[in-house]
Amino acid sequence: MAHLSVLEAEWGAEIPYVGALGKGFPFRGARVPFLNRQKGIYRAAAQRGPAALSIQTSANTPYADAVTADGFLYAYRAGDIDQPDNRALRAAHELRVPLVYFFSTRPGWYKPIFPAYVSADDPTARMVVVTPGELRGPIDEPEPVALDDPIERRYVVRETKARVHQARFRGRVVPAYASQCAICRLKELRLLDAAHIVSDVEDAGEPSVQNGLSLCAIHHRAFDQNLVGVSPGYVVHVSRRLLEDEDGPMLDLLKGFHEVRLATPKRELDWPDPERLEARFARFSDLS
Ligand SMILES: [Zn+2]
Repeated sequence: MAHLSVLEAEWGAEIPYVGALGKGFPFRGARVPFLNRQKGIYRAAAQRGPAALSIQTSANTPYADAVTADGFLYAYRAGDIDQPDNRALRAAHELRVPLVYFFSTRPGWYKPIFPAYVSADDPTARMVVVTPGELRGPIDEPEPVALDDPIERRYVVRETKARVHQARFRGRVVPAYASQCAICRLKELRLLDAAHIVSDVEDAGEPSVQNGLSLCAIHHRAFDQNLVGVSPGYVVHVSRRLLEDEDGPMLDLLKGFHEVRLATPKRELDWPDPERLEARFARFSDLS
């Protein structure tokens, strides 16, 4: 989990398998991969204990209805309920040991949730409930802890659901824009976010590319603060407040894109929805 925290700091919301998760973490002189892309439930060969190390859900799995107030529902592997993967999943419940839940955000990319605990097991329904826990303690050596307080749990489940949704939204929006900022065309993946055009009230719904813009960190923040706007005709506008401000190299980064055409996705189907842009642009115009 410490190694995963480092990867998260390096990559942000989504971590690639190739070059990051697949390389694994050092353990007893070898390297252990975090997951096996072919398997939902994964127990590493180097492990001595019986419990699973990680589980994963593919990007195509419908997930909106697979979450309850207490956690994410996770199905047993098909076949015998006592086959090795299912045993590893249930051992994580019996022993109350933490695992990592990898949500795929697009092929080859994952949002890890850790620590996570198998908080309930229903062999008849062939389902477990996976509840996020917390890392607590000193910053260089935090310990995973399960949350027993139902109110705390519910809060963490809600928050995790929103984080997974945001990561999947990014996993759709950023590639649609060929991994560049729609305003300044910056192509540094680690600095790119998916910005919502209008806020997402139904945060469990399908993330919609047409409600997103791929923006670099500066332009995302500026868009959220209505310092830049995008017209329904796909033209970038910089707020009057900024345009009239004193010059400076950083300010030029923002002002220089006034009246530039927004970069749009290759597929017209993925282009930002003009109606949503119009609603958002009206707010920008009022405020600037
Ligand atoms: Zn930018």
